[in-house]
Amino acid sequence: MRFRETIAALFVALVAVLATAGVSARAESEDTSTPKAENSVVVASAARVAGDAHRTRFIVDLSRTVKFAASALADPDRVILDMPEVRFDLPPKSGESGRGLVKAWRYGLIAPGKSRIVLDLSGPARIDKSFVLPSVDGQPARLVIDFVKTTRAAFLADYPRPDAVAEDAAAEKGDRKPVGKAPSSRPVIVLDPGHGGIDTGAVGVDGINEKVVVLEFARLLKEKLEAEGTYEVLMTRDDDRFIPLGKRVEFAREHGASLFISVHADSAPQNYVRGATVYTLSERASDAIAAALAKRENSSDILAGADLEDEPDDVADILIDLARRETKSFSIFFARTLVSEFESAVKLIKNPWRSAGFRVLKAYDIPSVLVELGYLSNKHDESLLVSHEWRERAATAMVASIDRFFQPRLAQGQ
Ligand code: ZN
Repeated sequence: MRFRETIAALFVALVAVLATAGVSARAESEDTSTPKAENSVVVASAARVAGDAHRTRFIVDLSRTVKFAASALADPDRVILDMPEVRFDLPPKSGESGRGLVKAWRYGLIAPGKSRIVLDLSGPARIDKSFVLPSVDGQPARLVIDFVKTTRAAFLADYPRPDAVAEDAAAEKGDRKPVGKAPSSRPVIVLDPGHGGIDTGAVGVDGINEKVVVLEFARLLKEKLEAEGTYEVLMTRDDDRFIPLGKRVEFAREHGASLFISVHADSAPQNYVRGATVYTLSERASDAIAAALAKRENSSDILAGADLEDEPDDVADILIDLARRETKSFSIFFARTLVSEFESAVKLIKNPWRSAGFRVLKAYDIPSVLVELGYLSNKHDESLLVSHEWRERAATAMVASIDRFFQPRLAQGQ
């Protein structure tokens, strides 16, 4: 993002955030006479647009989840979101602060019990993903629409012109062309087998290399996920090669990943320590073990003598911060889901969800976790990690957690 745009966006977002805080505080204090009615209507408390002219995300914070239908019309190019009645507690003019592929948007009731959001596009775009996520960790439920730039011809081939279809009649019958259901809209999962090539990672008591164990495990997991036919599964490496940490993150972003899982196996000086751990990104490590591990994993590039100059700067952008916060809650949601599936399948260490500053988890817009399958420094763990039976069990649990993670958005037909 260019600097001037960043400043403008920062200002707009700040105003929006402050205005929203004011509105919701007022609404709460004034509406005390009708608490029951408050509960019956879904409330949209904030909306924002992030991204650029190639990829744009539209997000609405909701008091709870709603079912919605997305459709699009050409000339002028619009995307229409129809949903049950929603009360929009948004600051005035918030629909004017478009960005990237979304020029502006408007919202409101169109019929009793029916609300609509209309997004005016700045150019031809298609919906890459659209879903509603339930409220997690005190964060509101969220309606998320991801747009990607497309060609004029592709847009026209996909969507009808308004003269070809009477908008309101079509809306009533619900026969406008649904969008985002193309086979390519399957969620992309990137599996990242840690280390590789010159960087062997941890070495087991019997001499097994982490880079080999994690590649074999990731291949099995990929096979199982692909067998479901629901996801597109990509790997950052499928052979014994070194890949810098930043390149792994870049790979996931380039392929529009919806989930990034880095697979590792740890080692510890205390050979009795064993069990799996799931890590998420945090500025401050959850504990000393997590801090030490992040330091070891982050040194991968240094071990390989790789040039670190392409490390991206931490961009001070409030919209990126918002996306980062949102991504963080999804990462935590997935980490917890994975831990709960692992509980009945494999041995976990004490406090199995931990966090630290892993460089490979730094995609601000992709939920990411790092899984340590176990400790190669423990003889028992080492033998499990190479056993067919253990791998089957662990991979099956991971597939179950991934299904649970994607279930809300797959239920939307995306
Ligand atoms: Zn590792």
